[in-house]
Amino acid sequence: MFSYKNHLRRDKPREHCAVFGVTCDDESYSISKLLYLGLISQQHRGQESTGISILKTGGNIVTYKKKGLVSEVLNQKVLSKFWGNIGIGHNRYATTGAQEFESPDYMQPFHFKNNEIEFSLAFNGTIPNYAEIKQSLEDMGRVFVTNTDTEVVAQLIASISLGTKGWPEILKTASKSLDGSYSLLLLTTEGDIYAIRDPLGFKPLCIGELRSETRNHYIVSSESCGIDVVGGRLIRDVEPGEIVHLSHRKEMHSEMVVKSDRTALCQFEFVYFARPDSIIDGVSIAQTRLQLGINLARNDPLLKDPKFKENAIVVPVPDSGRSVAVGYAQEAKLPYVEGLMKNRYVWRTFIMPGQKNREAAVKEKLNPIKIFVKGKNVILLDDSIVRGTTTEKIINLIREAGAISVNVRISCPPVIRPCYMGIDFPTTSELIAGRFKNLYGEENYIEEIRKKIGADSLRYQTIDDLVSAIGKNKNQLCMACLTGEYPLKSVNKIVEMEKSISSDRY
Ligand code: SF4
Repeated sequence: MFSYKNHLRRDKPREHCAVFGVTCDDESYSISKLLYLGLISQQHRGQESTGISILKTGGNIVTYKKKGLVSEVLNQKVLSKFWGNIGIGHNRYATTGAQEFESPDYMQPFHFKNNEIEFSLAFNGTIPNYAEIKQSLEDMGRVFVTNTDTEVVAQLIASISLGTKGWPEILKTASKSLDGSYSLLLLTTEGDIYAIRDPLGFKPLCIGELRSETRNHYIVSSESCGIDVVGGRLIRDVEPGEIVHLSHRKEMHSEMVVKSDRTALCQFEFVYFARPDSIIDGVSIAQTRLQLGINLARNDPLLKDPKFKENAIVVPVPDSGRSVAVGYAQEAKLPYVEGLMKNRYVWRTFIMPGQKNREAAVKEKLNPIKIFVKGKNVILLDDSIVRGTTTEKIINLIREAGAISVNVRISCPPVIRPCYMGIDFPTTSELIAGRFKNLYGEENYIEEIRKKIGADSLRYQTIDDLVSAIGKNKNQLCMACLTGEYPLKSVNKIVEMEKSISSDRY
């Protein structure tokens, strides 16, 4: 029987991934190079493994997936071997290094084939009620090979297909059972791609087209930068709760499955995850980050002190602090200085599993440029503080390089609660703002964080300023990690259960 206690103990990859798909109306043309381009442009969303599923002429789906970066996995040899005019791809990020997750079974696309049905699935997200659904499918005799949401979704679809005719009906029924945050692509043996976004629209998903005199393509991508890079045109986003049918034989067709009063696009896409050149739900990521910087500079008491300003420079934590720092410097009328050198061959610390890895990576990754920061009041712009250890180390590095003061400005409001919607956040007790808010109270916790990280001053974005920079309403965004108000029913059940069995996360 399903138990929330077991659910909380589960150790499975929590994905923050990229999906990409292409159809082409010319059956003599292979889209594998386009899949490569779309996936490599979204490498930032997942670096553990990559994979593609392509429909071969004759109706067979072939899948190739491997641990590694897109450029390593999808080399020229693979691209020329995997040949077809319709396909999907996936970059995976998983938060655990457990041995079993190294298996190709845990990589995507998830190619499902049995006597009943065959399809391939590229899934970005999480299904908090997955254990409940898995249990009921197991009770019906279904056997699972992995412990992932993706297989639960695949088995659910296969099970529904037994009594339901036609992909749109199968997928509509499946979507209604899934209370989660996801964007998914499904490739059928008939040569169709179905693109589905959950009813609250937590994860981005958009559609584009690429037309030439000789052939036409539909493209579907987590981020619009994937459409740009193949030379396509962004048509629109997949709406929350919508299923879009892309086919090389017909015009695009779509159906709304569930229409919610509210949506819940993850605010972190704007603050940190998405590439600055992407547009999500009509909002430019670069423009939003610029505005977040402008907001931070407005009413910053530091800027009222002419003596401070005389020696002040605005320094971003590369890369995601850049647009914010540009906005801040522009508003503050201060020089923008690239005072931290980043080693591009070390991955971002936030998405490296394991605290030890993260701490070691800070030193390897960033080095202050002494000649720029020495004798300066540094205003350091970063996107977020999660555990606080990385920020503390960066401040030390800048101070050791001779800065007069290090003043931290953060474009995201304090992160106080874990995410249950597929993003790898630590528990409340590991989140510096969550822990300090509990310890020191609303009035004092920011000052205590400042002392802990060793900054001369610390200011965060307010929630209202974040919402206004994105240009959406509060009821269009998920801000659960900032407010503790979770928009999914299944998550609220888990949160209540956790409160009752452990004080660690609360
Ligand atoms: S809780 Fe935070 S990280 Fe998770 S989906 Fe909501 S906004 Fe995004």
